[in-house]
Amino acid sequence: MNTEKLDQVVEELKAIVGEENVITDPALLYCYSADASINQHMPDVVVRPGKTEEVSEVLKLANRERIPVHPRGGGTSLSGSVVPYGGGIVVDMTRMNKIIDIRPADLWCIVEAGVIHADLERELAKYGLFYPPDPASSESATIGGTIATNAGGLRGVKYGTTRDWVLGLEVVLPTGDVINVGTKTLKTSSGYQLCRLFVGSEGTLGIITKAVLKLLPIPKARVRVMGVFDSVVDAARAVSQIFMAGITPGLLEFVDKNAQKAINSWLNLGLPETEAILIIDLEGSTEEEPLKLAPYLERVLKENGAIEARYTSDPEEMNKLYLARAKAYPAMFRLGKPTVLVEDITVPVRSFQKRSRKSTK
Ligand SMILES: Cc1cc2nc3c(=O)[nH]c(=O)nc-3n(C[C@H](O)[C@H](O)[C@H](O)COP(=O)(O)OP(=O)(O)OC[C@H]3O[C@@H](n4cnc5c(N)ncnc54)[C@H](O)[C@@H]3O)c2cc1C
Repeated sequence: MNTEKLDQVVEELKAIVGEENVITDPALLYCYSADASINQHMPDVVVRPGKTEEVSEVLKLANRERIPVHPRGGGTSLSGSVVPYGGGIVVDMTRMNKIIDIRPADLWCIVEAGVIHADLERELAKYGLFYPPDPASSESATIGGTIATNAGGLRGVKYGTTRDWVLGLEVVLPTGDVINVGTKTLKTSSGYQLCRLFVGSEGTLGIITKAVLKLLPIPKARVRVMGVFDSVVDAARAVSQIFMAGITPGLLEFVDKNAQKAINSWLNLGLPETEAILIIDLEGSTEEEPLKLAPYLERVLKENGAIEARYTSDPEEMNKLYLARAKAYPAMFRLGKPTVLVEDITVPVRSFQKRSRKSTK
């Protein structure tokens, strides 16, 4: 954008969102030039809308002037998707951070797109509810960003990804038109599933301003099991066998030797540093349910090559095991190597053994 046009656009943006919510200082723009990947590019201007109408006016202006727009939530993307290549306007959604309504009886809530994922979790817990998608970036990622990326998380093995938990959306289209898609009912079968189209659209179809999210009651009890393996192949086989044994884990994570070492050297969690560990959650609607199932799971793990298998329901011990996976990425990053390249690959369960051998190489 040339300086003259930029000056004019900045003035119009100030009129829409207020002077204090338009950023042009290069030092501050720099903070918006990157995400959690290695990519970087400076925006021309950052705007911080506080309501849907303001987002709409910003997009009308950008559309009229043919200026690229880059919606931004927590900026935790690992793929450069939030980096403003080509310059233009970054729309920082973090001021739109209200939890508007929580309906325990209907099992849904309505939130603005800039609500931090972990803040919502904490609020829902007061009602005995939870929102199943749980990216490890929860303390910084926004609900809008997790919807735009169809984020998954540690609980994905049982609960799927974000797309399965978004009932409805308010979206501002590139023209500035505001539309509502989806529903507030737990079941809907009529019409096109436009809501699902916006989930995972990475900001290419419009800016999400509000979301209706499906909720569940927090399971009454949870037990965390660790299986220790001296062979990656055994651990991979055990994964298949857990499902074949009729067990549906609430969480199932694989942590290899390198990741265990990195985490131990940072958080001193006392992980065994063997070829692989599996971390598995069992959940139940009574205290007894997961405790009854845990010895059975231990047996399945041992029959499939685990050199050790143990379970705990102690919250502190459970949290340590959770951190063993949740902190894997920052732990690798801390090793001080030039960089960490993240690849999220998805393979059928039966190919996991082969893939894990290859990735170890
Ligand atoms: C330590 C760490 C752990 C992570 N763990 C996971 C994980 O377990 N699972 C997982 O899936 N991802 C994970 N990620 C990746 C990232 O956190 C997620 O993709 C997250 O959903 C991004 O949310 P955000 O608010 O930071 O979005 P941003 O990074 O700000 O944006 C991501 C994309 O969404 C678009 N966007 C943002 N807000 C909106 C909006 N309101 N409307 C339309 N488009 C929008 C942006 O333009 C961009 O394309 C992790 C990242 C880090 C750094």
